[in-house]
Amino acid sequence: MLLTTDDLAFDQRHIWHPYTSMTQPLPCYPVTAASGVELQLADGRKLIDGMSSWWAAIHGYNHPVLNQAVSQQLAQMSHVMFGGITHPAAVTLARQLIAITPQALDCLFLADSGSVAVEVALKMALQYWQARGEPRQRMLTVRHGYHGDTFGAMSVCDPAGTMHSLYQGYLPAQLFAPAPQCRFDQVWDEHEIAPLTQLIEKHDKQIAAVIIEPIVQGAGGMRIYHPTYLKRLRELCDRHQLLLIADEIATGFGRTGKLFACQHAEVVPDILCLGKALTGGYMTLSATLTTRRVAETISDGAAGCFMHGPTFMANPLACAVASASLNLLANNQWQQQVATIEMQLRQQLQPLADLPNVADVRILGAIGVVEMKQAVDVAALQAQFVADGVWIRPFGRLIYLMPPYNINSLQLSRLTTAITKVVHQICTASSTAG
Ligand SMILES: *Cc1c(COP(=O)(O)O)cnc(C)c1O
Repeated sequence: MLLTTDDLAFDQRHIWHPYTSMTQPLPCYPVTAASGVELQLADGRKLIDGMSSWWAAIHGYNHPVLNQAVSQQLAQMSHVMFGGITHPAAVTLARQLIAITPQALDCLFLADSGSVAVEVALKMALQYWQARGEPRQRMLTVRHGYHGDTFGAMSVCDPAGTMHSLYQGYLPAQLFAPAPQCRFDQVWDEHEIAPLTQLIEKHDKQIAAVIIEPIVQGAGGMRIYHPTYLKRLRELCDRHQLLLIADEIATGFGRTGKLFACQHAEVVPDILCLGKALTGGYMTLSATLTTRRVAETISDGAAGCFMHGPTFMANPLACAVASASLNLLANNQWQQQVATIEMQLRQQLQPLADLPNVADVRILGAIGVVEMKQAVDVAALQAQFVADGVWIRPFGRLIYLMPPYNINSLQLSRLTTAITKVVHQICTASSTAG
């Protein structure tokens, strides 16, 4: 299938893209195929993918095993309602997810996107306290978080910027602790936890749950923090009997070097949200897991059930491809792949930290982040990346990589070289500008 210039004009005029304007849309690149770690443009050019389609395509594109899982399921049935019906794809996937997540997480809800998984988690926490006869209305989180674009999820996203001010009066007011400051590889500073401790001590009887992205805060700034922060947070939640929700929608399935980022701190949450890479990037699907205690408390409450049930709950196609993706992960190649990517990112991106316009470089697992001192020109940088044969989409001050795990070292070098080149150009431009 081709995309004509007429198609592109139609797209600009009628179709919204993520966070874009209808009157001043940013340019879009027509992609007509994707295979391995390459996206193919309509004109035949191939771009090495540095984004994994937003954390999702961990095995690359057009993977034979994943393709086969979809075709096989398609021949059986693509969808069937989950109310009053179950199917092999859902049961198989649920078994796998319960087996690879911490033992305490025993019951799961399969929804259709990451944001909905977060809504489900928040509703579980609210219903849990309702059922215990001590209703609680507030969530606590840290600044710089990102948990999705639906209302409940937005209410726990970083309150700075437009997200909160735009919908003021409609969004529930949540409690925000400062974002963790201590870096992943720094020496832990015990003072770091004081503001969070005070906030919890002051409001503990109102707080239904604490929600956090473990170790890596993604879309809220690509920040990587110390595992002890998470450990202390778990201890605080235990001491005050608060539920801990780990949003591993971005970090799950090996991205940070552990299968789940909570493992860096050996912490087990009460509720765990998964999404993005769950289906290897093939389809939209999410899972919210919780403990039997939480599940049973909710079920024994006045409502008598958990109040959520999306139309496409446990979509068989999505479940089947998720199962196949988990099977690919189970052969454990990802560990070596992610470790190799991490080493190469350290060698090739870390030196940029010494350049004048670079604020910081941070790397964990298959994530490499170059933070500039000023916001970058996204459209201009993207055009240059495309000209260099790579797909990298910066945002704000961040130029970052999270490639598919099966990228080879030559391909990864193409990505880091392209970043090195634009960062040097930014430095040169600003020094000549005086
Ligand atoms: C992307 C993301 C979400 C939202 O997932 P969608 O599938 O885009 O709704 C929630 N939490 C985190 C940590 C994410 O990275």
